[in-house]
Amino acid sequence: TDLAHIRNFSIVAHIDHGKSTLADRLIQSTGTVKDRDMKEQMLDAMDIERERGITIKANTVRIDYTADNGEQYVLNLIDTPGHVDFAYEVSRSMRAVEGSLLVVDSTQGVEAQTLANVYQAIDANHEIVPILNKIDLPASECDRVAEQIEDVIGIDASGAIRVSAKTGVGIHETLEAIVQHLPPPTGTRDAPLKAMLVDSWYDAYLGVIVLVRIMDGVLKKGDRIRMMSNNSTHHVDRIGVFKPQREDIPELGPGEIGFLTASIKQVRDTRVGDTITHEKGGTDKALPGFNPSQPVVFCGLFPVDSAEFEDLRDAIEKLALNDASFSYEMETSAALGFGFRCGFLGLLHLEVIRDRIEREYDIDLITTAPSVVYHIHLRDGSMEELHNPADMPDLSIVDHLEEPRIKATILVPDEYLGDVLKLCQDRRGIQMDLTYAGTRAMVVYDLPLNEVVFDFYDRLKSVTKGYASFDYQLTDYRQDNLVKMSILVNDEPVDALSMMVHRDRAEARGRAMVEKLKDLIPRHMFKIPIQAAIGGKVIARETLSAMRKDVTAKCYGGDATRKKKLLEKQKKGKKKMRQFGKVDIPQEAFISALKMD
Ligand code: GDP
Ligand code: MG
Repeated sequence: TDLAHIRNFSIVAHIDHGKSTLADRLIQSTGTVKDRDMKEQMLDAMDIERERGITIKANTVRIDYTADNGEQYVLNLIDTPGHVDFAYEVSRSMRAVEGSLLVVDSTQGVEAQTLANVYQAIDANHEIVPILNKIDLPASECDRVAEQIEDVIGIDASGAIRVSAKTGVGIHETLEAIVQHLPPPTGTRDAPLKAMLVDSWYDAYLGVIVLVRIMDGVLKKGDRIRMMSNNSTHHVDRIGVFKPQREDIPELGPGEIGFLTASIKQVRDTRVGDTITHEKGGTDKALPGFNPSQPVVFCGLFPVDSAEFEDLRDAIEKLALNDASFSYEMETSAALGFGFRCGFLGLLHLEVIRDRIEREYDIDLITTAPSVVYHIHLRDGSMEELHNPADMPDLSIVDHLEEPRIKATILVPDEYLGDVLKLCQDRRGIQMDLTYAGTRAMVVYDLPLNEVVFDFYDRLKSVTKGYASFDYQLTDYRQDNLVKMSILVNDEPVDALSMMVHRDRAEARGRAMVEKLKDLIPRHMFKIPIQAAIGGKVIARETLSAMRKDVTAKCYGGDATRKKKLLEKQKKGKKKMRQFGKVDIPQEAFISALKMD
């Protein structure tokens, strides 16, 4: 296809504003998929994505469209991941296209993810077509929301297209706007091949499938290619496009988006953002800004039943094959036995992987407290990354510690603003900005990531009755007064519960932890001291008193079924407990103990 008849675009939206539904309508109304083959959310493939309504991996579809001017166009839609954990992948896929549809739910207005994603689109120099969706709903307020888009984002929304992705109203106008308002791609056919690796995933039949955007040159079946980040070379055995089913074609030219396969075994050998060129006569100038995403949140995953360790290893290895940003190494814990220390892009990423292990591989897991990556600057001038508080080196060799900071953007109806500010303040936040858009406030905070990883999002949702939206990006590493707090149960340190905290907040955190643990650990036949300590100095202490002999004694009266139930419950609870010295600690204690109220 000649460049003038190609349009490449993405759709940016806050979750639930209708991105997937709009994509479905565009696919359907152009006859890309026959009505009878149409299922909802064509582009959201994974089960977990569907259940949670989030798109994790970018997907793509090629749409053939005959415009009102009679010309035939190829429209390539790249569906970007909608979640902050995958910000790097979003920014890469944005660089593979020239324009964006900005979808805003006209009953809701602009939200935090709308902003985060639209700024990425603006950074990538996109032409942006604003779309007001859900106009079929009585609560739709197009004028107000258009004004808000202009106020908050600063783009002209006077011509915003009014759409119902549900009923199909405005879909034709959307297709015409794509053709008329978005620029065609540029590129040179005769130049050496330069293709961006936009995404890759594992397919059981074809092996690794690589999604590429051709910037310059032509990629043909049978070519020998080179990945510029690691100089690995491969033989291209298949080239094609998604409509959205795979369709093989002989070549991809400049401006086009499609896939290749080249007998690549693991997704880890293909890094998002890498440049692909020909082995011979290729370019020597890689695309700028290649910077693969690094895990920022780590936690330990241990099997509840230690006999399942090999199964867990197998599950983790399989998942890692298909996810270059998930890292793991074996870990042994005095308390939990053999397991893995795993690295994730963020909390959602962690949850998705943990769910998949439990669900697809049927392994019960103990997840230890998530921890961010700290930079430990040693006295000798060198720097180490700390992925696990248990590995904290002796303080005598440490000069100082740095922790990752984020820029958090929160949008909230103004009646909840006070609670949000208090929450951010409590989490060592520094306010950067506070503006209003109608009755909503937009606050920007500089926060330490370690204050956000446990339960910040849950707390935010609960203090705002679900009305706040939140998004963040990592900014930098900064020095602060951070210490390792250990937890001792019955005088034995439980390494899986140790954590890094800010010195000023250590007492409060320590006290909250030991109080929580006192409730979470069942009574035993003996007294159990529970302590929090920093470098041998106890900063908080509780004592769990010994159990009375008869566990059912508190079931006053003679209700036999109730007694039986209680005993059964205890038996079941046993399965999910681990022994620490002489003490059984239930699985949920590891996460619950770290949540703050
Ligand atoms: P996404 O998270 O942005 O991909 O949003 P979805 O496309 O999954 O849509 C979220 C919800 O809004 C779903 O229940 C859709 O059926 C619904 N929805 C999407 N577009 C419309 C619309 O135009 N009108 C109405 N009434 N509902 C819509
Ligand atoms: Mg979706």
